[in-house]
Amino acid sequence: MITVEEALEFILRHFEPLEPEAVYILDALDRILAEDIFAKVAIPPFDNASMDGYAVRAEDTVGASPGTPVALRVVADIPAGTVAGVPVGPGEAARIMTGAATPEGVNAVVPVEETDKWPATSQEPRGKGTVVKILKATSPGANIRRAGGDMRPGELVLPKGTLIRPAEIAVLATLGHRYVPVIRRPRVAVLATGDELLDIDQPLLPGKIRNSNEYSNAALVARYGGVPVRLGIARDTVADLKAKIHKGLAQGVDLFITSAGVSVGDYDVVKDVLQAEGEIRFWKVKMKPGKPLAFGAIEGVPLMGLPGNPTSSMVSFEQFARPAILKMQGRTKLVKPTVEAVLDDPLERCDRRGYQRVIVRRDKNGTYHAGTAGLQASGFVRAMARANGLAIVPEGKGELAPGAQVSVQMLDWPEVE
Ligand code: AMP
Ligand code: MG
Repeated sequence: MITVEEALEFILRHFEPLEPEAVYILDALDRILAEDIFAKVAIPPFDNASMDGYAVRAEDTVGASPGTPVALRVVADIPAGTVAGVPVGPGEAARIMTGAATPEGVNAVVPVEETDKWPATSQEPRGKGTVVKILKATSPGANIRRAGGDMRPGELVLPKGTLIRPAEIAVLATLGHRYVPVIRRPRVAVLATGDELLDIDQPLLPGKIRNSNEYSNAALVARYGGVPVRLGIARDTVADLKAKIHKGLAQGVDLFITSAGVSVGDYDVVKDVLQAEGEIRFWKVKMKPGKPLAFGAIEGVPLMGLPGNPTSSMVSFEQFARPAILKMQGRTKLVKPTVEAVLDDPLERCDRRGYQRVIVRRDKNGTYHAGTAGLQASGFVRAMARANGLAIVPEGKGELAPGAQVSVQMLDWPEVE
């Protein structure tokens, strides 16, 4: 038997980030930036007001208070998107809106709330040609966003390798990038195998079950940023399996993920075909569920053979296929986050590391608790559907008792309320 770490280390050696491609900015979300992005211009491009109010010379407002207001002549109105056109001189002010360019001559913006034009219902005439009373002294630079304060021209703002989230999309947009260089998404062929399998829209028949692994594997591929290429169900015959694999090769895929047929059953032809077609190793991994695992290549395309039991398949996918798919996308952080939790239910141990399905919750004191998500049977899917985490149970004898501390690999980390 090999350990999870040994298997993963071996697998990851066979994957490198894929080539870059230029995509429309919104398609860059959740992808890895393939080139450094420098600011070509200053951001903001010009000095501008960060509040609605009056652009002034700070020195003109010295001593201003509600009892001793300073009166300034309003010489311009500057809505956002316009420029004043005239400079502001001593004893003058310009009415200005948030985001509008500050005119020449000013060095501060007094918020409208600190003038006699507030509250907004005040009947005081406002705007160009009126007089504004400043009720509070200001200081140079107040409420002005300086040109280049966020990004200076020539500055490296997003290094190659950055994960693009909505905030990075904002940076790219403000710098004018309609297209963004990112690592392309891997195309991942998903193939189910088994004579017992029916597709989801077929009525159940004696001895048959519906194919769930193809769907869960395709969903996992998509969740981790790959493009699933579904190859359907291969029957447990050499001819059918070969045909499906060649169909995948013809579609140009970066990875094959098969399910079932990698253990020791009599009809596990996947093993025979894979061995005959490529360089494939069959492992017994020291984990439960998910002991059988195949890995190798067919015509140069890596292939991962996941176990057939639905929960084994998903757990193995998380441990081995997920990091490989992420690595192909240029991601360097491949470890699923874990939390330390107090166990609320006993969990069984065995001579392999357990990945037990648990529900993690945080109590009032901020302590994480893990309770069982139900029957820990690798052939069933309900507990996996209820779980939000996999408790990593060290190998050993007997039970891990309630109250013990466990690390839980979080499958989901969604909003809590
Ligand atoms: P095998 O590895 O072929 O011995 O399959 C192990 C178990 O997984 C058997 O109970 C199969 O019926 C089940 N199984 C295999 N493929 C699938 C699938 N695509 N969806 C649901 N269960 C499956
Ligand atoms: Mg089978």
